[in-house]
Amino acid sequence: MPYSLPDDLAAALKTKAQAEGSSVEDLIRMWLNADDDQDVLRRLHKSETRYQAIVQSQIDLICRYTPDTVLTFVNDAYCKFFQKSRDELLGRSFLILNPQEQHERIHRRITAVLRNPGPEIAIYNVVMPDGDIRWIQWVDHGVVDEHGQVVEIQAVGHDITELKRLEEQRVRTAALEAELTAEREANELKNRFISTISHEFRNPLSVIKASADMLLHYGERMSKAKVEEHLARIIGQVDLATGLLDDVLALDATRAGTLDFHPEPADIAGFCQSLVEYFRRTDDKQHDIVFEGVLPPGQIAADLRFLNRILTNLMSNAIKYSPAGSRIRLAAAVEAGDLVLQVEDEGIGIPKDEQIRIFDSFFRARNAQHVVGTGLGLTIVRQHVEAYGGRISVTSQPGQGAVFRVWLPLRDCDK
Ligand code: ADP
Repeated sequence: MPYSLPDDLAAALKTKAQAEGSSVEDLIRMWLNADDDQDVLRRLHKSETRYQAIVQSQIDLICRYTPDTVLTFVNDAYCKFFQKSRDELLGRSFLILNPQEQHERIHRRITAVLRNPGPEIAIYNVVMPDGDIRWIQWVDHGVVDEHGQVVEIQAVGHDITELKRLEEQRVRTAALEAELTAEREANELKNRFISTISHEFRNPLSVIKASADMLLHYGERMSKAKVEEHLARIIGQVDLATGLLDDVLALDATRAGTLDFHPEPADIAGFCQSLVEYFRRTDDKQHDIVFEGVLPPGQIAADLRFLNRILTNLMSNAIKYSPAGSRIRLAAAVEAGDLVLQVEDEGIGIPKDEQIRIFDSFFRARNAQHVVGTGLGLTIVRQHVEAYGGRISVTSQPGQGAVFRVWLPLRDCDK
């Protein structure tokens, strides 16, 4: 059975061989042939027995095999683990112990050790006869001959099944915790959502009720103009509530991923122009609203429902957060395969430290509290932009206005 000499004995032999101008092998051969030097034989035998005892008493699995996977040595732990006798293992390929699908990986590992005998670490699972799966971490070393050639590989296997199970348990627990946190956050968001929305609905409803009461009780005594004023207020508040409901539905649709995306040939410049005209008509603060389009002639494939949601929110914010008489500019251009839309205003702007949060649901910057809003518009914009596969950015100097820029990839039309 092949063995290695313990380091101390090997070093002593080497020194002696060098002193005598001979090799270690010649020295041993000479001593073995000499009847009178029984002491050396005894020392060698003792060292071999001690070495065997150490290896055999290891709980780790130890084996040696030739590069073509034939086992030349196995310790007791190895035999016990694989439930085979030493005779059943020695002289045979250890591949019989591994499932077929691992063979290629094992060959790759052997090739690596042949190239570089340094330790090679790999983890393999073993299906035990009772179906239990165990995980072994193998550390392989190449055993080299005097020419530096790897002639055998020594492998030490450590059963890491319990560690692995603990690790799996830890990962499962972490995933469960993450799920719980996400659920808790979703619940909190839902609660905040419900209370904000209820609050926002209550406002228009109470205005509607007040005007309706007035009309019911005093309508006959009211002038025609006063009646019309109350009716206009009711219609305005119904529009507000309908808009809010639309926002909630839009949010819900993007959250549920049910937003269908249908690009069709569209006249983007015409669409932007009519949007600007709509805002000019409805803007009672009389801003200077302009559109500038640098678009290629002809139609561009786009989903106008998405564009409408995105631009309506950005434009109404620009109007809402800037003083009467200031300018609001909508621009559209095609750049590097994207439709680029920009809404620019000269309003209150957004505090620097809060710019990163304005796309979060319900977030409202501290300088916007005096303006009516729910903090949902930009969430809807972001979700629509992302569903389109685009991106959005904001730049703003507080007190000097804000610029929202949206990049939407140009798409092919639906068939
Ligand atoms: P809302 O306007 O209803 O509050 P949004 O989600 O549309 O909700 O906007 C979130 C916040 O971002 C606003 O409350 C405001 O603080 C800020 N914001 C958005 N657009 C502008 C803008 N053009 N100028 C200044 N602040 C803006």
